[in-house]
Amino acid sequence: MPIHEKSLIRPENLITHEHLELDGVDVSGHWSTFIRSRAVTDYNEQMQEEIAALPGGEFIHRCWQCGSCTNACTVNAINPDYNPRYWIYLIRMGLEEELLRDKDIIWQCVSCNKCTYACPRDVNPEGVMKATTHWLELKGHTEKKPSMVFDETFSEQVFATGKIEDGRVLRQFFARTNQSLLQDWLVALVRGLVSRMPVGLLMKLGLATVFRPRTRGWAAASAAIAEYVDERKVADRRALGLDV
Ligand code: SF4
Ligand code: SF4
Repeated sequence: MPIHEKSLIRPENLITHEHLELDGVDVSGHWSTFIRSRAVTDYNEQMQEEIAALPGGEFIHRCWQCGSCTNACTVNAINPDYNPRYWIYLIRMGLEEELLRDKDIIWQCVSCNKCTYACPRDVNPEGVMKATTHWLELKGHTEKKPSMVFDETFSEQVFATGKIEDGRVLRQFFARTNQSLLQDWLVALVRGLVSRMPVGLLMKLGLATVFRPRTRGWAAASAAIAEYVDERKVADRRALGLDV
């Protein structure tokens, strides 16, 4: 399928002539735009299989490039460069070098799943974005991204106690990503909650930050989940041909 969005064409491949006349017709400027042809010699023929082997990427082969995912995407609405349809195209074509140009924004998926509901082929584009982010990290193309740090922080708390205490997750996430806890949006959120919440619930939340709530008899379930996570990590690395 041709790539037709002009924003996806590298600027250096666009050629225009400031002054050009052909058979007496003035075709200066954008009238004389040409796209330089290019030869791709470095296909990664395993790319689709590698992404499909990671959790979330399983159904990437179903994509028929309708674009509904990008059209529905929350992040695309504020950053047109965020384009799940295009990245799925690149992965399926094995165009690794092209994909790497966007390696620092693919992780920004906010997991709203609007794309998942819009997709007519059950590709699970949200899962593909997660799998692609994971693939970029495992392959060493990117360092650990904030979304992965958040997932780890969240999971660690579940493994440890079987419960989630939102305040603790946020505090740890901000500390691990070197961000101030005094974010404007967070301060406004806390103020709003404090002004509207019943006093009893506020006290419960306050106590939960001091005494960590735990699920009774959680140890066996926690051990089973940890075992599964370890197995999954090994399977993911094997699927990409990496050392385990
Ligand atoms: S889940 Fe991610 S890719 Fe899908 S619409 Fe939301 S932000 Fe976009
Ligand atoms: S909505 Fe589904 S089928 Fe359409 S481009 Fe996105 S992933 Fe592919």
